[in-house]
Amino acid sequence: MTSSWSFVVVAAGRGSRLGGLPKQLRPLGGRPLWAWSVETARTLWKEGRLRECVLVVPGDLAETPAFRDLPRPGEGDLPLRIVPGGELRGDSVLAGLDVCTGDWVLIHDAARPFLSPALCRNLMAAAEETGAAVPVLPCADALKAVDPATGAILGPVDRGGLRRTQTPQAFPRLPLLRVLREAGGEVLDEAQAWLDAGRPLTPVEGDPKTFKITDAWDWEVAVQMAEKTQSHRCGHGFDVHPLVPGRPLILGGVLLEGAPLGLDGHSDADVVCHAVADALLGAAGEPDIGLLFPATEERYRGADSLELLRQVVARVQGKGEIQWVDVTLQAQIPRLKPHLERIRANLEGVFAPRDGDVFPGQDRRIVNLKVKSGESVGSVGRGECMVCHAIATLVLDSR
Ligand code: MG
Repeated sequence: MTSSWSFVVVAAGRGSRLGGLPKQLRPLGGRPLWAWSVETARTLWKEGRLRECVLVVPGDLAETPAFRDLPRPGEGDLPLRIVPGGELRGDSVLAGLDVCTGDWVLIHDAARPFLSPALCRNLMAAAEETGAAVPVLPCADALKAVDPATGAILGPVDRGGLRRTQTPQAFPRLPLLRVLREAGGEVLDEAQAWLDAGRPLTPVEGDPKTFKITDAWDWEVAVQMAEKTQSHRCGHGFDVHPLVPGRPLILGGVLLEGAPLGLDGHSDADVVCHAVADALLGAAGEPDIGLLFPATEERYRGADSLELLRQVVARVQGKGEIQWVDVTLQAQIPRLKPHLERIRANLEGVFAPRDGDVFPGQDRRIVNLKVKSGESVGSVGRGECMVCHAIATLVLDSR
């Protein structure tokens, strides 16, 4: 019989010594801090080691767009539930445990973004063998005891007998629930409540990279590390469609009413959506939309290309973070300048869950759109067609 595991990411803290946003919501390497831990959970889930992930967020933020509008995991993705936490850390952990279904659970602090799947695997194995496990590290610095009131040094402390505790911490779920309910909300970590209840706990060698971000210095280190774990890829997309009478003109999913000519093609011939989709697919190293949605297939006749783009975005987001999309549309007629922002905003909407309130107060616009005339030369200049170029930047996590 294989045991089932749940993964709880605790991101419910209110305080931020870094100022502004609670730190677990701050963007690190293009995504909120908590998302790094969920990504590790996703890796474990892909390995078949995890049943689900539960993200515990500040109670008053659970219903804000930052969490409410996150894309729901589809089929073939890590099941992710978002629950509001409580005032105290213990209450938040209980809120997460309450909705878990696994026999076992890893409880992890979102302020530790660089969690390796290997550490999780070691903890899971140790817990299954011995009952419960936590990651610990030796203390490198010489330790001194001080008078808590005055700060005066009282004497040395033998560091040989001391260990620093990290997360995730691995427990059987129902016994942990009992222990935490009895302990009340005021516990430093689950290990403390577990030990206070007289239960055995197995140490597993921790990972220095799983450090907790607490102050501005930690954040600086995390930013450097995030850059190292990421690589950037660009993709280019190009498309052309003939301009003909009797067809609607649809650009970036926007129907331009009253346009005398429209773009011709098997789908709705939205040249902008096609170029953007190909740029994204190019960055992800995937085939172009012509192969994904073949024009030879009847079901794509008249297809809504914005919807196809949405599918492409979902596919590419599974591989990395879409950072930037720059588009140049070349068209002689009609005059498109007045419609440009409407088209741009419509495209931006396809990436919507990544912007706005996910990082409140920050401009998270990722689509840029320009239009050039054909200078009255060539096929564009003669109004025979529209041409669109796009480039997309994708950030890949190479942890
Ligand atoms: Mg096309």
